[in-house]
Amino acid sequence: MPVACSAVHSHNEVRLQRRPASARAVYLIEARTHTDSREVDALFRELRSRMCVRPLSTGRLMGYAVEVRSDDSPILDAIEEILKESFSCVVVERVFDELTMRLVADLCRETGSRIYCLPRCSICGRPEPFPVATMGAGASVGRCYCARCTAEAWGP
Ligand SMILES: [Zn+2]
Repeated sequence: MPVACSAVHSHNEVRLQRRPASARAVYLIEARTHTDSREVDALFRELRSRMCVRPLSTGRLMGYAVEVRSDDSPILDAIEEILKESFSCVVVERVFDELTMRLVADLCRETGSRIYCLPRCSICGRPEPFPVATMGAGASVGRCYCARCTAEAWGP
């Protein structure tokens, strides 16, 4: 059954979005050479044309969050397999939360890589790679909400 995902209620008019249930993964790859960086970049560029991909970091540590429909979750395993076959140091997380971002931040510090800023949820303040944005008028313009808050707003 699809999980409803949408902007939360507000005093202003808010247009609701529904998204099908999704599966996420975070891939962290150590690019030891320029060839590695180019290969990783090319792979995720290709994936971006077919699914939601958000870069998390760049440099020696290349991080990406990927979101697909739940039905398509086997592709997340396939990406993991390809990366682990091609690169010696790959970390894969199958959730995205604050701990994941802390891990990315720590690894970026250790490797001198650059971490990208992510949009933050307007309710809980958590970083969210794939926010649900409201398209309502007035004060709600420009707000975004994380998957957890939107799920709570819709209830079980
Ligand atoms: Zn939130």
